[in-house]
Amino acid sequence: MRCPKCGCDDSKVVDSRPSESNDSIRRRRECTRCGFRFTTYERREEIPLTIIKKDGTHETFDRSKIMHGLVTATVKRDIPVSRLNELIEGIEGDLRDQGISEVPAEEIGNMVLKRLRTLDKVAYIRFASVYKDFHDVEEFNAELKGLE
Ligand SMILES: [Zn+2]
Repeated sequence: MRCPKCGCDDSKVVDSRPSESNDSIRRRRECTRCGFRFTTYERREEIPLTIIKKDGTHETFDRSKIMHGLVTATVKRDIPVSRLNELIEGIEGDLRDQGISEVPAEEIGNMVLKRLRTLDKVAYIRFASVYKDFHDVEEFNAELKGLE
């Protein structure tokens, strides 16, 4: 990182902390030649995630859509929205870490279910019943059995 004052390209990091919104890292640097201090920010590259729907159409990954489903599934379950946000961020993070930019809607649904299962079983069943579109009581019961 080049010093803005003297142009020397050697600096050391004197302080490093996450930004307030926690989506970037703020670094205080000090030029090793002239001692000038400056700040840099490191941010994850935002590659848009694309969802491939069952009918083959594409749409942009939309947190609010997943959140809507989660809020519906967790009604009266006393789960803070922050936990739901974490859940969604976890999914997004996993996909990005794997370098995935296109993902079938079904896969997103499964990722949500996997996480809900450990978070809250009632919410899991509610979400699964909408998402998996159970056709009869037997299917529903089979899902319940799988939880035990
Ligand atoms: Zn300098």
